[in-house]
Amino acid sequence: MDEEQQRDQLEPEQTGRLIYWVQYVLVPMGQVPREVPWHEDCMRDAAVGVTSPGERSDVAGVRRCCWYHSGDWDAVTRTAVRLIAQVEATGVEENYQLCQQVLDAARADGMSGWPLQALRSLVKDPILIRKDAKLRSVIDGGQHRIRAMRDAGLTEVLVGNPRWRREDL
Ligand SMILES: [Zn+2]
Repeated sequence: MDEEQQRDQLEPEQTGRLIYWVQYVLVPMGQVPREVPWHEDCMRDAAVGVTSPGERSDVAGVRRCCWYHSGDWDAVTRTAVRLIAQVEATGVEENYQLCQQVLDAARADGMSGWPLQALRSLVKDPILIRKDAKLRSVIDGGQHRIRAMRDAGLTEVLVGNPRWRREDL
Protein backbone atom coordinates (compact mmCIF):
# COMPACT_ATOMS: atom_id res chain seq x y z
CA MET A 1 0.00 0.00 0.00
CA ASP A 2 1.44 3.41 -0.87
CA GLU A 3 1.34 6.43 1.40
CA GLU A 4 -1.67 8.01 -0.22
CA GLN A 5 -3.80 4.91 0.22
CA GLN A 6 -2.73 4.69 3.86
CA ARG A 7 -3.73 8.29 4.47
CA ASP A 8 -7.11 7.73 2.85
CA GLN A 9 -7.73 4.85 5.23
CA LEU A 10 -6.65 6.76 8.31
CA GLU A 11 -8.43 10.01 7.59
CA PRO A 12 -11.93 9.10 8.77
CA GLU A 13 -10.53 8.29 12.22
CA GLN A 14 -8.78 11.64 12.41
CA THR A 15 -11.72 13.87 11.61
CA GLY A 16 -14.53 12.65 13.90
CA ARG A 17 -15.42 14.56 17.04
CA LEU A 18 -13.74 13.24 20.21
CA ILE A 19 -16.23 11.72 22.63
CA TYR A 20 -15.56 11.07 26.31
CA TRP A 21 -16.83 7.68 27.23
CA VAL A 22 -16.58 5.41 30.24
CA GLN A 23 -16.79 1.68 29.88
CA TYR A 24 -18.06 0.15 33.13
CA VAL A 25 -16.88 -3.34 33.96
CA LEU A 26 -17.31 -5.70 36.89
CA VAL A 27 -13.90 -6.75 38.17
CA PRO A 28 -13.61 -9.77 40.50
CA MET A 29 -12.61 -8.60 43.99
CA GLY A 30 -9.62 -10.94 43.81
CA GLN A 31 -8.22 -8.87 40.94
CA VAL A 32 -8.74 -5.50 42.65
CA PRO A 33 -5.51 -4.12 44.14
CA ARG A 34 -5.29 -3.65 47.90
CA GLU A 35 -6.15 -0.27 49.35
CA VAL A 36 -3.39 1.61 51.12
CA PRO A 37 -3.69 2.33 54.85
CA TRP A 38 -5.70 5.49 55.45
CA HIS A 39 -6.16 7.97 58.24
CA GLU A 40 -9.76 6.99 59.00
CA ASP A 41 -10.06 4.27 61.63
CA CYS A 42 -12.04 2.06 59.30
CA MET A 43 -9.24 2.12 56.71
CA ARG A 44 -6.26 1.62 59.01
CA ASP A 45 -5.76 -2.09 58.52
CA ALA A 46 -6.53 -1.95 54.81
CA ALA A 47 -3.18 -3.31 53.69
CA VAL A 48 -2.95 -6.06 56.26
CA GLY A 49 -4.89 -8.55 54.22
CA VAL A 50 -8.22 -8.64 56.02
CA THR A 51 -10.70 -9.49 53.33
CA SER A 52 -14.20 -10.07 54.56
CA PRO A 53 -16.54 -9.59 57.50
CA GLY A 54 -16.33 -13.31 58.21
CA GLU A 55 -12.63 -12.96 58.93
CA ARG A 56 -13.07 -10.08 61.35
CA SER A 57 -14.41 -10.46 64.82
CA ASP A 58 -15.15 -6.75 65.13
CA VAL A 59 -17.33 -6.43 62.05
CA ALA A 60 -20.87 -7.60 61.77
CA GLY A 61 -22.44 -6.62 58.47
CA VAL A 62 -22.52 -2.95 57.58
CA ARG A 63 -20.56 -0.63 59.85
CA ARG A 64 -21.62 2.95 60.47
CA CYS A 65 -18.25 4.60 60.93
CA CYS A 66 -18.48 6.84 57.88
CA TRP A 67 -20.45 7.55 54.73
CA TYR A 68 -18.64 4.85 52.77
CA HIS A 69 -19.45 2.19 55.31
CA SER A 70 -23.09 3.24 55.67
CA GLY A 71 -24.97 1.37 53.00
CA ASP A 72 -25.50 -1.63 50.77
CA TRP A 73 -22.89 -1.46 48.01
CA ASP A 74 -23.98 -4.83 46.68
CA ALA A 75 -27.51 -3.58 45.99
CA VAL A 76 -26.20 -0.29 44.55
CA THR A 77 -23.76 -2.13 42.28
CA ARG A 78 -26.51 -4.40 40.95
CA THR A 79 -28.76 -1.38 40.31
CA ALA A 80 -25.89 0.44 38.56
CA VAL A 81 -25.15 -2.51 36.26
CA ARG A 82 -28.84 -2.87 35.38
CA LEU A 83 -29.44 0.84 34.69
CA ILE A 84 -26.17 1.35 32.77
CA ALA A 85 -27.08 -1.55 30.46
CA GLN A 86 -30.60 -0.17 30.08
CA VAL A 87 -29.35 3.31 29.14
CA GLU A 88 -26.53 2.02 26.89
CA ALA A 89 -29.13 0.02 24.97
CA THR A 90 -30.83 3.29 23.99
CA GLY A 91 -27.72 4.26 22.03
CA VAL A 92 -26.66 7.18 24.21
CA GLU A 93 -23.23 8.38 23.11
CA GLU A 94 -21.76 10.72 25.68
CA ASN A 95 -20.85 9.73 29.22
CA TYR A 96 -22.53 12.76 30.78
CA GLN A 97 -25.78 11.78 29.07
CA LEU A 98 -25.46 8.22 30.32
CA CYS A 99 -24.86 9.44 33.87
CA GLN A 100 -27.84 11.76 33.72
CA GLN A 101 -30.18 9.10 32.37
CA VAL A 102 -29.00 6.47 34.85
CA LEU A 103 -29.68 8.86 37.74
CA ASP A 104 -33.03 9.93 36.29
CA ALA A 105 -34.04 6.26 35.97
CA ALA A 106 -32.93 5.57 39.55
CA ARG A 107 -35.00 8.51 40.86
CA ALA A 108 -37.95 7.30 38.80
CA ASP A 109 -37.52 3.92 40.56
CA GLY A 110 -37.81 5.75 43.89
CA MET A 111 -34.13 5.71 44.79
CA SER A 112 -32.96 8.51 47.11
CA GLY A 113 -30.59 9.28 49.96
CA TRP A 114 -27.49 7.12 50.44
CA PRO A 115 -28.22 4.61 47.64
CA LEU A 116 -28.68 7.43 45.12
CA GLN A 117 -25.49 9.18 46.28
CA ALA A 118 -23.61 5.89 46.08
CA LEU A 119 -24.98 5.17 42.60
CA ARG A 120 -24.00 8.66 41.46
CA SER A 121 -20.47 8.07 42.72
CA LEU A 122 -20.14 4.80 40.80
CA VAL A 123 -21.22 6.29 37.47
CA LYS A 124 -20.00 9.92 37.65
CA ASP A 125 -16.87 9.41 39.75
CA PRO A 126 -16.12 5.79 38.89
CA ILE A 127 -13.67 3.59 40.72
CA LEU A 128 -10.47 3.67 38.66
CA ILE A 129 -7.73 1.08 38.44
CA ARG A 130 -4.62 1.77 36.39
CA LYS A 131 -1.15 0.34 35.84
CA ASP A 132 1.72 2.10 37.56
CA ALA A 133 5.20 2.57 36.05
CA LYS A 134 6.09 -1.02 36.98
CA LEU A 135 2.85 -2.26 35.38
CA ARG A 136 1.31 -3.16 38.71
CA SER A 137 -2.41 -2.48 39.09
CA VAL A 138 -3.09 0.37 41.49
CA ILE A 139 -6.29 2.02 42.68
CA ASP A 140 -6.56 5.47 41.09
CA GLY A 141 -9.80 6.49 42.76
CA GLY A 142 -12.25 4.79 45.08
CA GLN A 143 -10.07 3.40 47.87
CA HIS A 144 -12.64 3.86 50.60
CA ARG A 145 -15.51 2.56 48.47
CA ILE A 146 -13.50 -0.54 47.60
CA ARG A 147 -12.67 -1.01 51.25
CA ALA A 148 -16.33 -0.81 52.24
CA MET A 149 -17.22 -3.26 49.47
CA ARG A 150 -14.50 -5.65 50.62
CA ASP A 151 -15.70 -5.41 54.21
CA ALA A 152 -19.25 -6.18 53.03
CA GLY A 153 -18.08 -9.29 51.21
CA LEU A 154 -18.78 -8.15 47.64
CA THR A 155 -17.28 -10.51 45.06
CA GLU A 156 -17.17 -7.96 42.21
CA VAL A 157 -16.40 -4.25 41.98
CA LEU A 158 -17.83 -1.93 39.31
CA VAL A 159 -14.84 -0.16 37.78
CA GLY A 160 -14.80 2.59 35.14
CA ASN A 161 -12.46 2.62 32.15
CA PRO A 162 -12.51 6.21 30.86
CA ARG A 163 -11.57 6.70 27.25
CA TRP A 164 -11.82 9.11 24.39
CA ARG A 165 -13.14 7.83 21.11
CA ARG A 166 -13.81 9.33 17.74
CA GLU A 167 -17.36 9.86 16.69
CA ASP A 168 -18.25 7.54 13.80
CA LEU A 169 -18.87 9.49 10.66
ZN1 LIG B 1 -15.21 3.88 56.50
